[in-house]
Amino acid sequence: MAWRSHGTSNATLIQHLTANALITTPRVASAMSSIDRAHFSPSAPYRDSPQSLGHGATISAPHMHANAAESLLPYLSPGARVLDIGSGSGYLTCVLAALVQPGGSVVGVEHIEALREMGERNAGKGELGSQWVGDGTVRFVRGDGRLGWAEGAPYDAIHVGAAAGGIAGVEGLVGQLKRPGRLFVPVEGDDGMQHIYVIDKDEDGNVTKKKEYGVQYVPLTDAPA
Ligand code: SAH
Repeated sequence: MAWRSHGTSNATLIQHLTANALITTPRVASAMSSIDRAHFSPSAPYRDSPQSLGHGATISAPHMHANAAESLLPYLSPGARVLDIGSGSGYLTCVLAALVQPGGSVVGVEHIEALREMGERNAGKGELGSQWVGDGTVRFVRGDGRLGWAEGAPYDAIHVGAAAGGIAGVEGLVGQLKRPGRLFVPVEGDDGMQHIYVIDKDEDGNVTKKKEYGVQYVPLTDAPA
């Protein structure tokens, strides 16, 4: 039922995503309810579809945000440290922050300064987000996300919101995972098709890679000059 879960408010959007089994966990329903998508999407915030942010970026559809959060959920305990690469609107950065309270933190990495600022400004529109930006629970930093963010590593969970150019390219991110930890990343294959990969590192440091469903994300690129 993707694309059929539009709402007329944040609450009805979450209700419809839940009714259509695009949100399957009360924790993610509650986290998404606590962050108003209208603060992050410049247009049609309660439609279950991606929207343009400018600068070639898009805020992903709500069902994709829900899916990413649910995939990472076993690693999103209170106190967990999370990295959100390609933070764009800042919406998922804040939803992830909600999931790791109390005590957890999220770093959003964005390579376009205007978007880094936009994420921070959007987060600040809500009471929770403005508190989190103020106390450092949520930080928006500028950098090349392909390199992760070494100064906050290791992370319990890493989300990548733009497609890597190949599976070999994500090794550095795997290196920034805790033991145990999980990486959620869209990867473009040799055939030009993108798939979600869920990459787990266990307590002993063993890494397993699971290829999941096909997707369409904007690519991870060099920052525009
Ligand atoms: N999760 C975001 C997705 C935004 S689209 C949201 O739902 O709002 C993908 C984002 O990745 C864009 O903002 C783009 O500027 C950013 N991006 C692309 N390549 C990047 C790189 N190498 N490093 C950091 N960010 C990158």
